[in-house]
Amino acid sequence: MNLNLFGHNDRWLMVDCGVTFSKPGEDGPQVQMADPAFIVEHRDKLSALLVTHGHEDHIGAVAHLWPLLQCPVYVTPFAEALLRNKLAEAGLLNKVDVRSAYAGMRHQIDGFDIEWLGLTHSTPESNALMIRTDVGSVFHTGDWKLDLDPVVGEAFQPSRFAALQKEVPTAMICDSTNALETERSVSEGALHEGLLELVQQAPGRVIVGCFGSNVARLRTLAAIAHSCGRYPALIGRSLHNYYGAARSAGIWGENLGFVEADHLGYLPRNEVFAVATGSQGEARAALSRLASNNHPAMELEPGDTVLFSSRTIPGNELAVTAMIERFERLGVIVIGDAQVNKPIHASGHPSAAELADMYTWVQPSIAIPVHGEAAHMEANAEVAKQAGIKRQFTGNNGDLFVLAPQPGVRRGMVKAGRVGFERGQLVPVVT
Ligand SMILES: [Zn+2]
Ligand SMILES: [Zn+2]
Repeated sequence: MNLNLFGHNDRWLMVDCGVTFSKPGEDGPQVQMADPAFIVEHRDKLSALLVTHGHEDHIGAVAHLWPLLQCPVYVTPFAEALLRNKLAEAGLLNKVDVRSAYAGMRHQIDGFDIEWLGLTHSTPESNALMIRTDVGSVFHTGDWKLDLDPVVGEAFQPSRFAALQKEVPTAMICDSTNALETERSVSEGALHEGLLELVQQAPGRVIVGCFGSNVARLRTLAAIAHSCGRYPALIGRSLHNYYGAARSAGIWGENLGFVEADHLGYLPRNEVFAVATGSQGEARAALSRLASNNHPAMELEPGDTVLFSSRTIPGNELAVTAMIERFERLGVIVIGDAQVNKPIHASGHPSAAELADMYTWVQPSIAIPVHGEAAHMEANAEVAKQAGIKRQFTGNNGDLFVLAPQPGVRRGMVKAGRVGFERGQLVPVVT
């Protein structure tokens, strides 16, 4: 549930405004986000909200919190399509000042000189931000990986980031999610081969669970289905949302259509291909209903195959295992990334090796790891140190990182907490 605030000369910029979801069995509201109390109090000084990409942990709270913020929102076309759906649901579509951003854009907002720098991640149009002021600059990576074959969008461009080195950014705020991983992330383009082989070998129907926000993965899967003589369909509302957003942003590319899910029940088994929501075992999502043979689109039979082109988010293991057991009781073959030799899932975050590359290119004065648990941020700081970055600041939600003139961290400057969203309104979260 990312929410960053950058302050200079009595003005504030917000970068990202996301949600998190409570895990099965946890108390409290299902949708939670950072408590914006501090910036709401200083709302007249908030110049804009910049969204780095369309993942829920970066964009999911915009529609919930905007009535308290009331500032312009900058988004790229794919995220904008997703945001407009959310704003429409909240009855805010004509109230919010949504402004278009794009990779390569440079724009001045109240003393901040902002540049959007395109990079690769597990959803399209992800951007890092270079925020320059007259006293220093911040390079905010957002979520990223180093992908030279991302399937959708432009390949990662090292030279773009190496070019920042000569202006010595004051600080680099960087994604820590995979800082404990040593192997470089697998490229999206490298998944085609393994997925194709599995689909070619599958005797019956093929159902794939994946994260719908990964448009590149959807494209790879649609292309494989077509090349194997199968008719691909999307099952689940969020998949249709992401597919629709990709089409409206003009990034779906050439003609790789989907059939209506209702048609799947009438096709021969070896012509059926579906991408379904619910890879985390969510009880009401498509995969879980298919596992109980309780989905209107089709019934699965022994010899059908379910592929997980995804990973299980920590906390969801029990729900996912229980769902897999139900598939296996139906005689359905279940295959995940761990059971096969060729990769069928790729992470969207940088491993230690990729982090080291970025630090070497950008060479900021200070490294500030974010986006991860304490152990991930510590590991990221260590990578920065090894890469020759002199200072590393790690901290907690609510800490103020002073970058200029005298760098330092002021602990607990802002009361940090969570609010929930339930039955159409914000509610307190008791922790
Ligand atoms: Zn994220
Ligand atoms: Zn992300």
